[in-house]
Amino acid sequence: MEFSLTDEQQQLRHTVREFAEGEIAPHVMKWDEASQFPAEIIPKLAAMGFLGAIFPEKYGGAGMGYVEYAIIIEELSRVDGSIGIIVAAHNSLCTNHIYKFGSEGQRQRYVVPLAQGKKLGCWSLTEPEAGSDAGGTRTVASKKDGCWVLSGAKTFTTNGHHADVCVAMAVTTASKKHHGISAFIVEKGTPGFRPGKKENKLGLRASDTSEVVFTDCRLPAENLLGEEGEGFVNSLQILDGGRISIAALGLGMAQGAYECSVRYAKQRKQFGRPISEFQAIQFKLADMATQIEAARLLTYRAAWLADRAIASGPDARITRESSMAKLYAGEVAVRVANEAVQIHGGYGFTKDYPVEKFYRDVKLCTIGEGTSEIQRIVIARQLLGK
Ligand SMILES: Cc1cc2nc3c(=O)[nH]c(=O)nc-3n(C[C@H](O)[C@H](O)[C@H](O)COP(=O)(O)OP(=O)(O)OC[C@H]3O[C@@H](n4cnc5c(N)ncnc54)[C@H](O)[C@@H]3O)c2cc1C
Repeated sequence: MEFSLTDEQQQLRHTVREFAEGEIAPHVMKWDEASQFPAEIIPKLAAMGFLGAIFPEKYGGAGMGYVEYAIIIEELSRVDGSIGIIVAAHNSLCTNHIYKFGSEGQRQRYVVPLAQGKKLGCWSLTEPEAGSDAGGTRTVASKKDGCWVLSGAKTFTTNGHHADVCVAMAVTTASKKHHGISAFIVEKGTPGFRPGKKENKLGLRASDTSEVVFTDCRLPAENLLGEEGEGFVNSLQILDGGRISIAALGLGMAQGAYECSVRYAKQRKQFGRPISEFQAIQFKLADMATQIEAARLLTYRAAWLADRAIASGPDARITRESSMAKLYAGEVAVRVANEAVQIHGGYGFTKDYPVEKFYRDVKLCTIGEGTSEIQRIVIARQLLGK
């Protein structure tokens, strides 16, 4: 067994870390306080190849694998989870859905500019009445005069207001239930398509989470993505990869909160000694580091398996491993951020220290791309062969 990263992967980690500390860290609290989408960072992320991390160079991507992708998301999120989720939704949800299930024409037309970072993507599955039960989608798409006409609304779409390309799921044959939902590619500016309410969130405030609305939105027939009726089933496969990015997002934020805690514990004195000399604080740090390391092993194992699954063919799945990584890393992130605030005492409750923001941001990891409860259901189904 080989547990270490290659020299190239270690170099990548170093490069992303330098980028995140130089280009993102100085602006994090300003963006967070203002709930401001960090538009100025998007071209820089593109120039670094982060917006096309997992796509072949032939399609404008950086030609990396999921291990490298997890490194990128972890390191960006160590500094700002908002940037992590923007990159994750763009890469492993929107662009990957088109790359995996799109025609060659759709790959050329959409994947290339998305992977180059010339365009930003979003992916809309969730609806107000269809969250965990995403198969309960109500947005409909019907055929009229050789076109598809979409009506309905999606909620909680990451990048919803800023995306140039949206992949959205809609019911095409209600009687076929999960095999009656199709995926569509919708371009910004298409009449009848608009972003709606922007959520005012607890955390990840610099990332945009919005409603997207379809009002008799007419799409050419060729904007159907994948087989008609298979959009929901394909989405489950897309979520296998997406969950690795949420695991990496949680891991990065947990690592960030932990590092702040070590620094603070060494510098903060009470009773004439640094608080790091108190066993109660040492035990917290030991537990945090151990849990982060376990989450890292699960996350990178899932990423490593994802790379092997891609190499072994289109039907290979990593559902169990990606759900386990997402479940564990997400819950570890919440526990670690909680202890990080505790170690900072009253100062951890203020915006003067980064742990306050980590504490708010990490909660998404037990909710997005399937809640912890849903991950347990997915894992149990795999275990019981259902
Ligand atoms: C910041 C953010 C970004 C997001 N980005 C995207 C995006 O880009 N695209 C997208 O499509 N969606 C996105 N989502 C939506 C996200 O995936 C959903 O919020 C999530 O799947 C949960 O759905 P829900 O919010 O409707 O909760 P609900 O499904 O209503 O769940 C409420 C509670 O009930 C529990 N529950 C539900 N069903 C069961 C069950 N069968 N057994 C046990 N417990 C159950 C849940 O675990 C949860 O605790 C985002 C959400 C957030 C907050």
